[in-house]
Amino acid sequence: MKTFAHFNASTIEEAVSHLARYQGKADLVAGGTDILGKMKDRILPVYPEALINLKSVPGLDVIEEEDGVLKVGALAILEDIAHHATVKAGYTALAEAARRTASPHLREMGTIGGNICQDIRCWYYRNPENRFPCLRKGGGRCYALEGDTRYHSIFGGSVAEGCIAVHPSDTAPALIALDARIKTSRRTLRAEDFFQVEVSRTTVLEDDEIVSEIQIPAPVDGTKSAFFKFALRKSIDFPIVNCAAMIRVSGDKVSGARICLNAVYVKPYRAVEAEEALIGKEINDANAEAAGVAAVSHATPLEDNGYMVQVAKIMVKRAVLACG
Ligand SMILES: Cc1cc2nc3c(=O)[nH]c(=O)nc-3n(C[C@H](O)[C@H](O)[C@H](O)COP(=O)(O)OP(=O)(O)OC[C@H]3O[C@@H](n4cnc5c(N)ncnc54)[C@H](O)[C@@H]3O)c2cc1C
Ligand code: SF4
Repeated sequence: MKTFAHFNASTIEEAVSHLARYQGKADLVAGGTDILGKMKDRILPVYPEALINLKSVPGLDVIEEEDGVLKVGALAILEDIAHHATVKAGYTALAEAARRTASPHLREMGTIGGNICQDIRCWYYRNPENRFPCLRKGGGRCYALEGDTRYHSIFGGSVAEGCIAVHPSDTAPALIALDARIKTSRRTLRAEDFFQVEVSRTTVLEDDEIVSEIQIPAPVDGTKSAFFKFALRKSIDFPIVNCAAMIRVSGDKVSGARICLNAVYVKPYRAVEAEEALIGKEINDANAEAAGVAAVSHATPLEDNGYMVQVAKIMVKRAVLACG
């Protein structure tokens, strides 16, 4: 690994000032499960000159419900979120998404802030020693478009003829389905506005902006949420497709629905058509299946990933039925 400066920040403000001083040439490290792998494997043409450690900032790992809002600090580790009684009971989609992320060791290290800010996993991009200097790294070609698109976007790319790598986070769709807010050192954003379709960025964060907290409004009565993930292995595996849903039933009819897929597009994909298909309907097998079909109505699969459309349909169907 190349050498770099390392700072233990004691406050968010101190971390911001380090980032500002390095003008885009420094990066944050939380659990380190994503960024350190990238650096060790030398996948990038340019490396951060400094890492700013956020784990040294006290109080950023809080998980508590207060005044009808669940507050999850950016440094809360995934294992704690997965097993927190309040999260499991009221915010099931998030607990389940955290529980299904990676492996026990990675969940003990990985934070929710790092999970939503993690980089993409395209196998050309991640190849060691920057073997494929693709479009996303400032190069002139997308190797996936010319090669193997088995795990790439089924809803198009970030720019015309551009990057088709999917967003790999498990917790991101849960946060969008639960209508979370992401609080940063500068502003508070809706979770669905946090992720970005740009050739080399996954979020709208500025170079010197830090996620400090995630805020989720307590679901209203009659609401249930769920998360489903399809991966090749049960543990240590990124989603091929995942889906989170939050559905409110009044009487026996759906009165509100938020459904989000991930790993199918360059950012989490809110399946608005599936939501609309459910409103006013009962939750049953046929309606859940119709929601799955609606969710992929705009899919444009590539040569190798048509199967993901079918998987996405099933993930939506299962998430909807679990909210019944
Ligand atoms: C083998 C393996 C399997 C994995 N499987 C999964 C999986 O199944 N599902 C899944 O979703 N992920 C998976 N991951 C990805 C990832 O490691 C985890 O998602 C983890 O939660 C990342 O958190 P971290 O704290 O370790 O992030 P770090 O590596 O510390 O940071 C990741 C990125 O986020 C930035 N960052 C971190 N915190 C903040 C903050 N507060 N504000 C702004 N930027 C920040 C960092 O600068 C860095 O660019 C896997 C990783 C590995 C190595
Ligand atoms: S999909 Fe994106 S990350 Fe993968 S090779 Fe193409 S440009 Fe690079």
